[in-house]
Amino acid sequence: MAEAVRIDAIVIGAGMSGLLAAIKLGQAGLSRVVLEKSGDVGGTWLDNVYPGSGCDVPAHLYSYSFAPKPNWSRLYARQPELLDYFRGVADTHGLREALELNTEASAATFDEARGEWTVTADEGRSWTARFLFIATGQLNQPAYAAIPGRNDFAGAQFHSARWDASVALAGRRVGVIGNGASAVQFVPEIAPEAAHLTVFQRSPNWIIPRSDEAISELRHRLYRHVPGWRLMFRGLIYQKLEANWAAISQPRGKHSLKMEKEARDHLAAQVPDPALRAMLTPDYPVGCKRLLVSDDYYPALMRDTVSVEARAIAAIEPGGVALADGSRVALDVLIWATGFQSHQFVAPLAVYGLGGRSLADEWAGGPRAYRSVTVSGFPNLFLLYGPNSNLGHNSIIFMVEQQVGYAMRAIARVRRGGGKWLDVKAEAQAAFNLQLQRELATTAWAAGCGSWYLREGGDNASNYPGSTRRFAREMKRLDEEAYDFA
Ligand code: NAP
Repeated sequence: MAEAVRIDAIVIGAGMSGLLAAIKLGQAGLSRVVLEKSGDVGGTWLDNVYPGSGCDVPAHLYSYSFAPKPNWSRLYARQPELLDYFRGVADTHGLREALELNTEASAATFDEARGEWTVTADEGRSWTARFLFIATGQLNQPAYAAIPGRNDFAGAQFHSARWDASVALAGRRVGVIGNGASAVQFVPEIAPEAAHLTVFQRSPNWIIPRSDEAISELRHRLYRHVPGWRLMFRGLIYQKLEANWAAISQPRGKHSLKMEKEARDHLAAQVPDPALRAMLTPDYPVGCKRLLVSDDYYPALMRDTVSVEARAIAAIEPGGVALADGSRVALDVLIWATGFQSHQFVAPLAVYGLGGRSLADEWAGGPRAYRSVTVSGFPNLFLLYGPNSNLGHNSIIFMVEQQVGYAMRAIARVRRGGGKWLDVKAEAQAAFNLQLQRELATTAWAAGCGSWYLREGGDNASNYPGSTRRFAREMKRLDEEAYDFA
């Protein structure tokens, strides 16, 4: 094995979070390497290239606070523009030389005596550093529904996050399993092409209008030359989205019912057929599953060549889908819009901390972190977009900026103190999680629906139970009393 490259910090993942960490580490004067399994930066925006892929948070907010783009072409940017943005940020911040692309980290091991992490990747290459960031995202390992017979299907099949553009859809009978945030974006795009499209829906979602629009040249110039206008626009989007926290914190409260009415009105305006409308109406409060935004999903379902199948799927067969009542839907192409293995977090990376303990073992009962960033027994390790930092109402970039700020304060403290590492106390982590789960239990996420936020057994390992303002407040200082220093 070649000798490990020595560096100040290792970042795993070159998506939105990893790029952010690399920038802040560089600004703090630390050398760093960014290991990325794919051939480019961009993370989710590199993977999710399905037709219509885009962000359902307006781009002026879904962008770094320190790297504005005055000329977003639309209110809701699409995947190509988002990918360009992240590539541009990597270039302008000189990250290309820190990148090791096509490099999948397989193991990270902490050496207690030296106070260093060693990360090994394919072909035995390795890097050693005092600080480690794992920025592999919550939503990067595709999940396939546990339906028997997947491999028996005789037609073409693929997952929405591994879109296979070589598969022709025109004139074919296409089945889509799932109707979440990904499906509602691509179903309207492929519906006109398919001879027939069947959406297999297990449970409906609340959908509110998207009201997307192109942003004019005039506004581009205004935002470029008068930054105050751009900041004001970003601030307005933030306030509007932040107000929706009330719907999640108080299921079926005033704001929740107001949003439910907006969603019901949207459905009524777009779907005149009462039977279909009933099929598309959820029975849980707004925000329990991720609230969707779309203006073209319902109209796509209204096409003669599109049907919604709400009967349960029993099995996949060579010729299509067998339903629980014994009927069959014949298909040429099957698309799995069944989301991601959201609770894998760092997997398949193996992480070994103090005394050789394995993070996978520590997390056998569910992923647990302290303030979503640190994990007891894993010194100088910082998770980005880690357990309980997801949200359902605002921009995840805002959350990750707070996490990186917190991690950089921790790093500064370790360097200032002249010691080797900091490690969050097990009791601090346990108390933090107890309180977290207590608060999560009263949110809309716990109001009785199934979602990718919840683990089997019911606890919520994904989301943060507060407003983003509160998160920012809590992350503003490093609470040293929660940490051991060595
Ligand atoms: P998802 O929201 O997890 O949706 C998965 C879909 O598959 C659901 O409709 C689910 O039904 C269905 N499903 C799962 N197992 C099934 C089974 N055994 N039988 C039938 N149906 C089954 O996945 P996603 O749409 O890819 O979205 C995941 C997340 O990615 C989103 O919530 C969002 O955070 C992110 N995303 C964001 C954007 C954006 O614009 N920012 C776009 C796309 C995705 P049930 O609802 O009944 O479980």
